[in-house]
Amino acid sequence: MHSTDSIVVINAGSSSIKFSLYDGAALELAMRGKIENLYAGATRFVAQDAAGAVIDEHRWSGGAIDHAAGMRFLIDFAQSHLAGRRVVAVGHRIVHGGVDYSGPQLLDAGVLAQLDTLVPLAPLHLPHNLAPVRSMFAMAPQVPQVGCFDTAFHTGQPAAAQAFALPARITDLGIRRYGFHGLSYEYIAGTLPQADPHLANAKVVAAHLGNGASMCAMRGGRSVASTMGFTAVDGLPMGTRCGALDPGVVLYLIEELGMDVAAVQKLLYQESGLLGVSGLSSDMRTLEQSADPRAQAAIALMVYRIGRELGSLAAALGGLDVLVFSGGIGENSTALRAAVCRDAAWLGVQLDAAANDRSGDGVRRVSTAGSRVAVWVVPANEELMIARHTLDILEQQ
Ligand code: ADP
Repeated sequence: MHSTDSIVVINAGSSSIKFSLYDGAALELAMRGKIENLYAGATRFVAQDAAGAVIDEHRWSGGAIDHAAGMRFLIDFAQSHLAGRRVVAVGHRIVHGGVDYSGPQLLDAGVLAQLDTLVPLAPLHLPHNLAPVRSMFAMAPQVPQVGCFDTAFHTGQPAAAQAFALPARITDLGIRRYGFHGLSYEYIAGTLPQADPHLANAKVVAAHLGNGASMCAMRGGRSVASTMGFTAVDGLPMGTRCGALDPGVVLYLIEELGMDVAAVQKLLYQESGLLGVSGLSSDMRTLEQSADPRAQAAIALMVYRIGRELGSLAAALGGLDVLVFSGGIGENSTALRAAVCRDAAWLGVQLDAAANDRSGDGVRRVSTAGSRVAVWVVPANEELMIARHTLDILEQQ
């Protein structure tokens, strides 16, 4: 890896494509950008340098832009902004790796065909993750591509943590708990011991709280249990997803309310969570600024569910040494952190109010010196995790 060599990371969601460019073996962030609102009218692109200064912007008027057109635009943009760099590999965030992919994987036609068979497990996300891989193969076939899976970090969980209490003929079909947000948790697992070497073998519960939200129990840098299960709708209430739900509710919706599969899916994925409970917004900032009691009820329910899951994950670990907050809400909402820690006092959590309120954007400890459980904020950085994996795979070739 020469200093002029770079790695591109692509994170493609259902309506957006994010990219980041990392330079040299030190993987220094050089620029990042995103195309948002694909398929909708107001598709827009913005790119920033490492310091956050905008280096380019674009808005599409008229016709909707799809993933392929978005990728063509990004590749053109990258080519005109490489400034002497050589892209040596592209790393992709891929939501599902099934039971077979327990780590990053060099992508080729065979792997892609195998990943296609997993689409029914993640129909809302996986096709969008794979589309840019195909675009890259078509436009730059000589550049190695690496898939990094959100499920991979959890594949080593104990069997009981992965199992549903269903008959074997069902679980044999791959119907089990996979867990997601694995790249975020793997990054946190690697970051904590760097911040404090005493934490290398600690019992850690990390909460990745963004639009999607989950929690993960980790020991010695490995995943032990997680709140997301077969799909990313399980566990905590999220921006628009309901989180854990009695499966009897789904049967009732179908039998008594006459809802079909599409209507149930829309309700559980897009109309529930913070949005559904508040009736106002899926956005935590908006809810925190609202005086509407429904906004406060939505936040209170999220805090309550985080507390319940924290107890459950601490039980899976047989104790708790560290609580980590990450994701847009976890990193930025001092009020949410305070409420969660207040409810977790019984576990030995003591927040340092001043440290919690102090604005900052780096890795930081926010518990009192005497707190039995250390509380940390670790800003999410799935992209850097993908870049590291991509570099590792490249060096193994
Ligand atoms: P995604 O899962 O899409 O990557 P993010 O991790 O960016 O999402 O998290 C988005 C969430 O973070 C939104 O609910 C947003 O309101 C919340 N958030 C961002 N900044 C703040 C803040 N200062 N205070 C409270 N919530 C915030």
